[in-house]
Amino acid sequence: MRILTSDQLVLDHVAARQTAIVDRAVDWCGVNSGSRNAEGLAEMLDRLEPEARRLSTDVKRIPTQRSTSVGDDGAVRAEAHADALMIRTRPNAPVQIILTGHYDTVFPAGSGFQTVSTRPDGALNGPGIADMKGGISVLLAALEAFETHPDRDRVGWTVLLSPDEEIGSPASAPLLAELGARGHIGMTYEPALADGTLAGARKGSGNYHLIVSGKAAHAGRAFHEGVNAVAGAAILAARLHALNGQREGVTVNVARISGGGALNVVSDKAVVRFNVRVPDAQASAWISETVRQIATEPPFPGLTLDLHGGMTRAPKPMDASQTALFEAVRDTGALLGQTLAWKQSGGVCEGNNLHAAGLPNIDTLGVLGGDIHSDQEFAWPASFVERAQLSALILCKIASGEIDALKLKSLRLETM
Ligand SMILES: [Zn+2]
Repeated sequence: MRILTSDQLVLDHVAARQTAIVDRAVDWCGVNSGSRNAEGLAEMLDRLEPEARRLSTDVKRIPTQRSTSVGDDGAVRAEAHADALMIRTRPNAPVQIILTGHYDTVFPAGSGFQTVSTRPDGALNGPGIADMKGGISVLLAALEAFETHPDRDRVGWTVLLSPDEEIGSPASAPLLAELGARGHIGMTYEPALADGTLAGARKGSGNYHLIVSGKAAHAGRAFHEGVNAVAGAAILAARLHALNGQREGVTVNVARISGGGALNVVSDKAVVRFNVRVPDAQASAWISETVRQIATEPPFPGLTLDLHGGMTRAPKPMDASQTALFEAVRDTGALLGQTLAWKQSGGVCEGNNLHAAGLPNIDTLGVLGGDIHSDQEFAWPASFVERAQLSALILCKIASGEIDALKLKSLRLETM
């Protein structure tokens, strides 16, 4: 592969917009869009939509499904989520690219981390600057530039910007699955590591909420009439924790136990919340079954157990399609003088969902940065243009056929 004149014009288009690409991400970081801040998410949509309309006339807000949440009191409630934003161009072209990002962040409305500043070393420090408002700006810039390429008609693309990635994508999961099945290659804009390293294989992840119900009683007058849910929850938590080490690469993190009240009351309700991580589909099936089994065995009579949740993201192993795609992207990066490597990650993202639905994808095409999910979150401003150029050139090479999207997709389907 080499950079053709038509490719260079696309790259120049990106470079000419360097300041604007950074500035709009900084602007978006000034809007708090924690996953449960409905007002902030609506404000973000209002800011994203005009940017989307510069790219395509087909821009839609797509309603997302409700999720269920389990309260600390054991009550199960339906939770509504903000719309996703879908941008589409040439849906009937022979090659279909799916580009995804999320416009929510982990920082709630009341967070003390709300603005962007520049560190002495030049890095931008702000909520979502890396994860992933910077990435969304990169994604849109790459597409805007690619739309000037003479071979663009061979490639159609769909962008999905979701409101719930940071809470496991419960609301947008069906949309991701539908797009993953339909597209040939996926490009997702989580930040890369500060040195540009991409996430290769990813584990799968599940979130569970186990409601333990007993019987309330006075601890003094009628202790033996009670059934202690907090004690039951503690035994169950120990059983779950004991699963660690039983199977290679599988971890169980008991994250939170809630329940109980006054010291003279036998508690009738408790909730055990835990997260599991698994390296492959077999381990995923094993942990799902083992957890289900534990939830059918109350530690003592009179307790009832009610299990909610499950695996939210399937593992994303380095299969043949992933390996071939990463190699193609590495070669594309080399044309730009960018050295791209990848390593496995215990983290999960939309890339897991897309892969599970049959889409080969790279999910760390966003900006270079680090310390995400903390008030130290940072991104290197120079990386915005570099990453937008990388994505734009990947699209050019897909359009030319030098990256064979149809072949990558069929490789993926062979392993399903
Ligand atoms: Zn993210």
